[in-house]
Parts: sequence; C-alpha cells; structure tokens
Amino acid sequence: MVVGYADPEDQEIAAFVAAAFAYGRVEGVIASARRILEALGEHPARGLREGRHRAGRFLPGFRHRWNGEEDVRGLCEAAARAWELHGSLGGALLARRRDAADFETALARWVGDLRGFAGEVVPLSRGLRFLLPDPVLGGTCKRWRLFLRWMIRPADGMDLGHWNAMLSPSELLLPLDAHWTRIGPRLGWTRRRTPGRGMAADLTAALRRIAPEDPLRYDFAICHLGITGACPPRLETRHCMACPLSPFCATGRRRLRRAGARLLEPGERVG
Ligand code: SF4
Repeated sequence: MVVGYADPEDQEIAAFVAAAFAYGRVEGVIASARRILEALGEHPARGLREGRHRAGRFLPGFRHRWNGEEDVRGLCEAAARAWELHGSLGGALLARRRDAADFETALARWVGDLRGFAGEVVPLSRGLRFLLPDPVLGGTCKRWRLFLRWMIRPADGMDLGHWNAMLSPSELLLPLDAHWTRIGPRLGWTRRRTPGRGMAADLTAALRRIAPEDPLRYDFAICHLGITGACPPRLETRHCMACPLSPFCATGRRRLRRAGARLLEPGERVG
C-alpha cells in the first residue's frame, strides 16, 4: 500500500497512517488505512496540505476498533502541522533530535509536539493518545518503532529510507513483536521473558553488536523465522537442524548437541 505511491511525501503519510493503525487484524488495518488515504485524495500529502481532514464529513462513520473519525482528524492534523513547520514529520523529529541529548528524549518531545497539534483541533481522547503513543510511559511503542524503521533505515525494498540522510539508523530500537519475544530469548540475547522496553533494548543491543551502524538490518530476516513457522512456538530439534541461525543460537546449539544432530545442508531433509 505504501509503495503504491510514487511520491516520497505520499509514502511518508501513508506509512504514518498505516503504522498508527497497525493493531488488530491485518485485513482491518489495511482497509482502515486505505479508507483514510483515499479520503485525503489521490495524493495524500497534497490532501493533507489542503486540509481535507478538516472538512466536516471527512470520514463519516469511520471506526477502527476504538478509533473514530475525530481521532483520524487529530492524527492528520498532527502530521499537517509538522509538515507546515518543518517540511516533513522527519524534519520535525530532526529539529527535536538536534536539541536533545539522545534519540529517546527527542522522540518523546516529537510525540509531545504531535499530540499538542492534534489537541488543538480535537479532544485528545484515549483513542487518539493510543494512535500517538508516548514513549515516556514505558511501553515499547512498537508502532512508532516500525514507522521509524521504515523511514530511517536505508531503502532496501523493505524500508523506505526517506529520512536516512537526516537521522541515524544506529539509534533505532527494535519493534518488538510476538515473534521476537519468542525467538530473542531462544537466541540467548536476553534473559527476560516478559516483553517490554527492557527486552527490546536487550535485543537491540545484541543486534547492534552485529551491525553497529544499522542494528535493525536483520530485524525482518530474524522475525521472518517466526512468521514462516521456521522457529515456531512448539519448537522441535528438526527446526533447529534446518535453521541457518543454529550455530549462533543458544537454544539451537544446545538442541543439536543433545540430539547429536547437525545443521542440514541447503536442500537436505531430516532423514
Ligand atoms: S536455531 Fe532453533 S531456536 Fe534458534 S532461531 Fe533457529 S529454529 Fe529458533
């Protein structure tokens, strides 16, 4: 959906909307994001600048779980004002990064700005605060982390890289999801069993040891082991025998050693 737009500005707003609504079933997420973007017109960035979201009946009857039309209006206003003042959402984050000691402080201030802009046109409801989560409150803010990864990591077919020239991928935090929560401890990269900021920080630190300048470089590849079922919740030794990560994985090494098994060659099957 995001790369369906050719213009980087349209991609930025499409990614912002898609990330904000990236909760619940995938089909519902796509349908809601599509509906919002279509209401902004063929070029959502232009629609935002023209203030289409301020029209009385912008998204009549819109509902995505607990979010309604007014929440979307606030979300769009936040982006529109950031663009007006800084040229892009990334420009607004860069402005905050320049006067903050670290990225997390800058991120918290940027979110505070966005909430402030939104709150000028609609009530800052619980639903709207959910769309613009505050990192200071201690959650992992997975949807922000996803959006930031898309925008800041170099363009590689998965991520867009539109902010790569102004913000460093070395400061990104892992978008911790259910797959990472399972695979990260198996790899031996964290002792924590409860998902949260601490686990995201542990796993990011481990990834940073592999790729200091771009720790999230292997995020998708490792997460994909979970998505495809290669490292499933009910793990068996045969999974580790076929897994290219097993030489580097605490669980994989242990399982192969105990079973007297080895990593299979590409194309080889368990006998
Ligand atoms: S080696 Fe086994 S436990 Fe480790 S990531 Fe691969 S499948 Fe999962």
